Amino acid sequence: CCMHMSQSVFSKIINREIPATIMAETDHIIVIKDINPKASIHFLIIPKKEVRDIQSFEQHDFELGLHMFAMAHYLSKTVPGAEDFRLQINSGAGAGQEVFHLHMHFLAGTFFSI
Ligand code: 5GP
Repeated sequence: CCMHMSQSVFSKIINREIPATIMAETDHIIVIKDINPKASIHFLIIPKKEVRDIQSFEQHDFELGLHMFAMAHYLSKTVPGAEDFRLQINSGAGAGQEVFHLHMHFLAGTFFSI
């Protein structure tokens, strides 16, 4: 398990070391509810592979994008009220990334204002 010393909060969720509300899971992706939602539906689509951000991608990591989009498609088809949705990736601290394990925000329903 520990060859890569993965220890992001999302890796701990993937490894069931800390709790989260898990909405979907495949070999490559886990989907959890965001703990601080900005919309009535706010999920995080997270590759199980701990990649920091898109800037860190190696060639084989681009496949993660396919898995993430496929999951967004699946959620839109299966989650009531999520037919139309917004996707956001904050890639890098300067863009507001706070958890340095790549993830895509999936937002739908009613959007909360700050
Ligand atoms: P970022 O700014 O990195 O794109 O967003 C990180 C997101 O992860 C935030 O929306 C934050 O609410 C969410 N988050 C941070 N820690 C946890 C956690 O432990 N559990 C869950 N479910 N969400 C988290």
